[in-house]
Amino acid sequence: MRKLKIPSLAGKDKEIYIECASDFIHNRKYADIALSYVDGVEKCSNKYTAYVPKNIVGFPHINICDEEKEIINKVYEQKFAPKGSIGRKYYDSIIGNAKGRCPICGGGKLKNLDHFLPKSKYPLLCVTPINLIPTCRDCNMEKGATASEDYYEIPFHPYLEIMNDEWVECDLSFYPDKTFSIKFKNGFDASLNPDMWRKYEAHMRINDLAATFNSRAEEELENIGGMYKKELLVCGEKELELSLIEMKDSAEEIDVNSWKSALYRALLRRSIEFFEWLKL
Ligand SMILES: [Zn+2]
Repeated sequence: MRKLKIPSLAGKDKEIYIECASDFIHNRKYADIALSYVDGVEKCSNKYTAYVPKNIVGFPHINICDEEKEIINKVYEQKFAPKGSIGRKYYDSIIGNAKGRCPICGGGKLKNLDHFLPKSKYPLLCVTPINLIPTCRDCNMEKGATASEDYYEIPFHPYLEIMNDEWVECDLSFYPDKTFSIKFKNGFDASLNPDMWRKYEAHMRINDLAATFNSRAEEELENIGGMYKKELLVCGEKELELSLIEMKDSAEEIDVNSWKSALYRALLRRSIEFFEWLKL
């Protein structure tokens, strides 16, 4: 996971909410209900970093009935996210602020904003910039379990956290019929810290990272196979190993837990089998 710079719009939460909610000019009921929660929006936004992600269970609870929750969420769904809506400039600005590729998988083009705390449960944070994580189409942080209040059962927060451990691991197998298989997993040693092991499991499961990483790494191996075969024949094993080390180092410089870093670590670990497989 790549750490993201906190959006420059953070702190303008209340103004953004008011501007978007006031735009229900043809539906005064929506505007009135949404605007009656401005104080709540301000309170929740101001308290965000004090509670998220480590102490979500203590986050200020504001009682809202289901019907009003739905109306508040329309501020995001109708006045913030759609192209041409009054809040879309903020949506685009948050994506633009992230720069580059998806912070979750490290590969996809930035397309969506996902609510770190889901808007179904925390509607007052529906347009709060620090709760909106730019991701690619494949990575969707709103999958089921993100509603958990247990820190170890929710993904890492790209604005507020960094990963200190190297934990993404790739298992590689090479077969005599020239095929291969790749499987990404949580390689963190659970005996070191069972809670952190759980956290990495949750991050991988909720973001569906194993599937995304598998397909990206399969594509890479298919693309580079021919090139490395040539390099092996022309330059020899020692040279090819140096090339793999170079690829691993440059991937790790960007993100030690990317699929690319884990793939090249695995290729180096299994270099004898990999070189034999290239010769097939
Ligand atoms: Zn992604």
